Amino acid sequence: MIQLIRGFKDILPEETGLWQKIEKTAISLFESFGFCEIRLPIIEHTELFARSIGQDTDIVEKEMYTFLNKKDEFITLRPEATASVVRAYIQHRLYAVDPVQKFYTIGPMFRRERPQKGRYRQFYQINAEILGVDSPLADAQLIFMLVELFKRLSVADISIHLNSLGCQQCRPNFKKALQKYLSNTSSTLCSDCERRKINNPLRVLDCKVLSCRETMKDAPSIVEHLCEECSRHFETVKDSLNDLNISFEIDNRLVRGLDYYTRTSFEVQTGSLGAQSAVAGGGRYDKLIESLGGPSQPAIGFAIGFDRLAEILAANNTDVCCKPDLFIAALGEKAKTMALQCSCALGLAGIKTETDFSDKGLKGQMKKADRLGSGHVLIIGENEIVEGLVVLRNMTTKEQVSLPIDGIAENLKSIFAENKKSL
Ligand code: AMP
Repeated sequence: MIQLIRGFKDILPEETGLWQKIEKTAISLFESFGFCEIRLPIIEHTELFARSIGQDTDIVEKEMYTFLNKKDEFITLRPEATASVVRAYIQHRLYAVDPVQKFYTIGPMFRRERPQKGRYRQFYQINAEILGVDSPLADAQLIFMLVELFKRLSVADISIHLNSLGCQQCRPNFKKALQKYLSNTSSTLCSDCERRKINNPLRVLDCKVLSCRETMKDAPSIVEHLCEECSRHFETVKDSLNDLNISFEIDNRLVRGLDYYTRTSFEVQTGSLGAQSAVAGGGRYDKLIESLGGPSQPAIGFAIGFDRLAEILAANNTDVCCKPDLFIAALGEKAKTMALQCSCALGLAGIKTETDFSDKGLKGQMKKADRLGSGHVLIIGENEIVEGLVVLRNMTTKEQVSLPIDGIAENLKSIFAENKKSL
């Protein structure tokens, strides 16, 4: 038996209804905030990720799925979407039309992490990115939109964690302060942080290993090292979020795992997920576009962990996508032919219809209709065909009515619409 590759998973039909609902809610919200969809390839040149995410990050150091293609070029299954969004913005000179571009994109990402609940090797993200705007008001607007999505999906128990990572001017000072702190402490760090403490000491701040957390308890805070401009930016983000009634917590440990972040960084955490508590994360990346060869344009974005969001909502999920409105039970060969005609006509009319073309008797077909959760069954028998009639059975009230076969689609549509109204 060939099984799934470790860390990969199937999203089965019983779950896809919920996935579609999340997707539709996000798309409708993002579009009303002026975002347009961009679809990007899942494979890019390795260099794109190495240069943007950063050489000393977990993702680039050990988690990327990288292959040599036939031309001996390194290509990588994308571990995240922002780098590709920026590449497309530069490659297609989208900034020349208007430097301000707002995109959303939804799709799979690949990271070779240790698989566990909430952490997969192929997982899905919903991204929204604003390119070309440096105003802190855009940061607040983006976070507002993210929070609104969680509200519309009725996700309870979320908290917004907010930090500023400074800029190229002030971050080096903070880095030095951290390095100094780390060189003066005798506590033990995990092997990864021992390595990072020289090149990427910021990453030690958000390491989850207990001994590292303990070591970093009294570490200097980045907020105390922000330059005047970064400080002002951060203050405006906080004030604007307050004005928009968005609650947040300042979290000076929030450095995020990707090197390209500058200034505002944020994460949405939830109590409903256990160890993997981050359901979305994002921040500014004001230098990324330029560093990838584009114009000097600032940007900000977020990525929602689609799988984790679906896991939170799964407990109360009733959005089964394949539940039919109608099941056609046909008795006898002629009736089956009629069932085929009817199912095609009803499908075209937008009525979710299921038919069983096997030789089951009426009892077996009714059982199947029940198992599928069909609201109604249309019974077609040989006698009824002669009379030009079919029987419609309401599976909840058990009421049955005879209806003419002629005009059945229109007839059913108005019956279902009436039923919906009276619900
Ligand atoms: P990141 O791109 O690392 O900032 O992650 C953004 C969001 O994607 C996180 O908050 C998670 O919800 C989700 N995420 C990241 N890595 C994984 C993974 N391996 N499996 C499932 N979800 C993930």
